[in-house]
Order: sequence, then C-alpha cells, then structure tokens
Amino acid sequence: MTTAEKTLAASIRAIHDYPKPGIIFRDITTLLGDAKAFRQAVDELVRPYQDLAIDQIAGIEARGFILGGAMAHQLSAGFVPIRKKGKLPHTTVSVAYSLEYGVDEMEMHVDAVQPGEKVILCDDLIATGGTAEGAVKLLRQIGAEVVSACFVIDLPELGGRRKLEALGVEVRTLVSFDGH
Ligand code: AMP
Repeated sequence: MTTAEKTLAASIRAIHDYPKPGIIFRDITTLLGDAKAFRQAVDELVRPYQDLAIDQIAGIEARGFILGGAMAHQLSAGFVPIRKKGKLPHTTVSVAYSLEYGVDEMEMHVDAVQPGEKVILCDDLIATGGTAEGAVKLLRQIGAEVVSACFVIDLPELGGRRKLEALGVEVRTLVSFDGH
C-alpha cells in the first residue's frame, strides 16, 4: 500500500459483526468526517476523468450520493441518483439485482440521462458487484455510455470487480480490504 492508500484506509472504520455475525462493515462516515481524507478520496476518484468531458455521475443510494455529489461538482458534471424502489417521484426504469440473500429492485428516472451521455458510476464499496451490475444495466437501458465505475473500497475476495469487467466496464477502487 502507498502512504496515500494507508491514510485513506486508516480513515475508514471497521465494525465487526455488523449488520450480522461474520461481516466486517466498512464505515466511511469517519472518512467523510475527516476533511483531509474526504478531499483526498474525491480528488483521487475524479483524477482520471478530468479531461473526459463526463456528462453525469450516477451515485448509488445512499453513500454513493455523498461521494458522487462531490465528484459531480468537481467535474462540473450532473448528478443522477439511483435509488431503492419507490423513492423517486417521476416515471422510472427499474432493474432487479441480487443481494446476498434474495433480490431487490433499484430505480432511476427515465429521463435522468440522455442517450449517448458519458456517465461514471459511483458507490462507496464494491463487494459481490451485484448492486453495481444492476446500476450498469439500468444506465445502459436508457442509452448511457458507462465510461467507468469507481468505488473507495474494494473487497476483492468477493469478485465484484470481475463481474463489472465482464460487462465491459472499467473499475477503479482506492483501497482494498481482505475478507467480507
Ligand atoms: P455488492 O452488491 O455485494 O457489491 O454490495 C455493495 C453494496 O453493499 C454497496 O452499496 C455497499 O455500500 C454495501 N456493502 C456491502 N458490503 C459491505 C461492507 N462490508 N461494508 C459496508 N458496506 C457494504
């Protein structure tokens, strides 16, 4: 790990056995509350995209809203919320996605992205990749060009990166942790 990665990793709190036994919850509220770490994370997330004329950042509810909003501002791009079913007021498109146990649905406004717009997907963490895979499908359904997907945290043992790469989406992450 580089010094920069160590600083970021140290700003993320690990909560053992949350929300259930065996899971280590990677809590980014400590990163967000640390002005230097928050700035560092957003700067690193946007760096490769600065000159790509990105139209929209799509953030996954809820932590992807915080990081994605900051990224959108920094890139002078728009922001598109991808939300859990039933939260968005206008006409939506929806997709089912797999969770550890069972499936859920996520939605986006049908007119949130114009066909051909360049979009970056953003969330705090990629684990199995089921959530991000659903989001990519949703964005493509309305004609977005998903240029890349970025996350602060990768849990490589769970294989999410490979799942997105198999869809032809470049994946970028800032820090990796072992285990679940
Ligand atoms: P997945 O669909 O398995 O890639 O899970 C990713 C989504 O679940 C992201 O929105 C994460 O915020 C959340 N998530 C999954 N595992 C963890 C974890 N160990 N700590 C914090 N958030 C997690």
